[in-house]
Amino acid sequence: MKEILQDLDLKGLESLTLSYGEPKFRAGQLYRGLMQGKKISEITDLSKAFREKLLERFEDEPVRIRETFRSKDGTEKYLFELADGNLIEGVFMRYEYGNTQCVSTQVGCRMGCLFCASTLGGLIRNLSSGEILCEVLTVNALHGGTLRKREVTNLVLMGSGEPLDNYDNTVAFLRAVTAEGGINISPRNISLSTSGIVPQMYRLADEGIPLNLTVSLHNARDEDRAKTMPIARKYKIAEILDACAYYFEKTGRRYIFEYALIAGENCDREHGEALIRLLKGRPCHVNLIRLNEVKERHLQSIDEKEAYRFLGLLQKGGLSATLRRRIGNDIGGACGQLRAGYLEKQGGK
Ligand code: SAH
Repeated sequence: MKEILQDLDLKGLESLTLSYGEPKFRAGQLYRGLMQGKKISEITDLSKAFREKLLERFEDEPVRIRETFRSKDGTEKYLFELADGNLIEGVFMRYEYGNTQCVSTQVGCRMGCLFCASTLGGLIRNLSSGEILCEVLTVNALHGGTLRKREVTNLVLMGSGEPLDNYDNTVAFLRAVTAEGGINISPRNISLSTSGIVPQMYRLADEGIPLNLTVSLHNARDEDRAKTMPIARKYKIAEILDACAYYFEKTGRRYIFEYALIAGENCDREHGEALIRLLKGRPCHVNLIRLNEVKERHLQSIDEKEAYRFLGLLQKGGLSATLRRRIGNDIGGACGQLRAGYLEKQGGK
């Protein structure tokens, strides 16, 4: 695989441009072209000779949409192909407050959560910051978005992978995607979801990027949480809560807990009561979601009525909580399902 030009920021592009004997202003043209989601070969304000030199060393299209799946509700899912043939996926959702894209940070994942399809084949490799950025630039361009009028306005780092397990590239991506001359998405419109890698949660708090921190909790008790999330053996809920409190102190941002409702595992009355005891009085919100069933696993969801009953219990107990609307369910809702299904068809990869 060649190098990824989108890994470089404007400064990096400037020194690169100079090293090719081109005037510095060419770097600005290159940067704007890339941020518009163009391939190197399409940035025609650069000379053909310069583009050809760049193409000897850099990938023309690091992230290519291989297939698009459209849901009746307007949600779109993409299967992206990377330059080395690996596959990742992304989702584009239309909400009243803006269009939200769900991005992947790794090919596969090594967290091993029992309910999640992304982790079925383990971690294949980290994505580079430029590859993650290209997911966004490609989808923005696909929908006719420009740098002035973005079609992707919100991001959730909830696709395949554990963003804090690919820390440096994820942070470089966050800086690139929020940079002023680029696509310039506001950190306040970005949510990063983690399974709770405590040391990196502290590091993130100190980066000065005021994004929304989301933690996949799924259980109020460590022993129960460890049954579906192996990482729970390494970092305790109490440590996660301390890191969240630090995050709040540093950024002033309320944090969010994801809680996927799994029949018989985490949504009986006693689980709700334990959750209320754990979180009451904290500046947080609980996002309930009914489990998207993954056929390789035997965990089951609960029905909508039961989900609302659990939501009511939490709200009565004083927690701020909502039940996430299920969208795009007809096109392979949960992260990793699209890729897993595809790889199965191909005979595994
Ligand atoms: N690794 C990160 C981000 C990716 S997963 C994390 O763990 O947070 C994004 C969210 O989807 C997480 O809350 C995850 O627990 C949840 N999730 C994964 N598989 C799911 C499924 N089958 N049904 C519902 N939620 C799921």
